[in-house]
Amino acid sequence: MPPDPIILGGIVASGVRNAVDNANKTSAANVAHDTRQQAEAIALDVEMLFMITEVLWHIVKQQNNLTDEMLSDWVDEIDARDGIINGRRPKEQRPDCANCGRKTIAGNKKCLYCGTAIKLDLFKKY
Ligand SMILES: [Zn+2]
Repeated sequence: MPPDPIILGGIVASGVRNAVDNANKTSAANVAHDTRQQAEAIALDVEMLFMITEVLWHIVKQQNNLTDEMLSDWVDEIDARDGIINGRRPKEQRPDCANCGRKTIAGNKKCLYCGTAIKLDLFKKY
C-alpha cells in the first residue's frame, strides 16, 4: 500500500521544521558563544589597559612630582564638564565642517558634502 500523501507531507514538514529549529538553536548557541568570547576578550583588553595606565601614571607622577589626589581632581573636573558627575566623559557636539559649515557625521573622517578632513579633538567623546 503506498504511503498516504497527507501523512507523508506531514512527516516531511515536521522534519523540515525540526531541521530549521535545530539550525536556529545551533546558530543562536554559536552566536551566544562567540559573543561571550568577544566579551571576555574585551574584558582582558580593558584589564591590560588599566595596568598600562597605572604604570604610565606611576612614571609620570614620579617624574613630575604629582599626587594621586591631583589626578583624582582632574578626573572629577572632566567628569563634571556636563554638570553631571557620573563617572562618564561627557559627549561633545561634533564640529561643523570647517569648509562648508555643514554638520559632520559620526564615524566619518571627511565631510560628506565637500570632502574636507574633519579635525576632532582626540580627548573628546563625540
Ligand atoms: Zn564640508
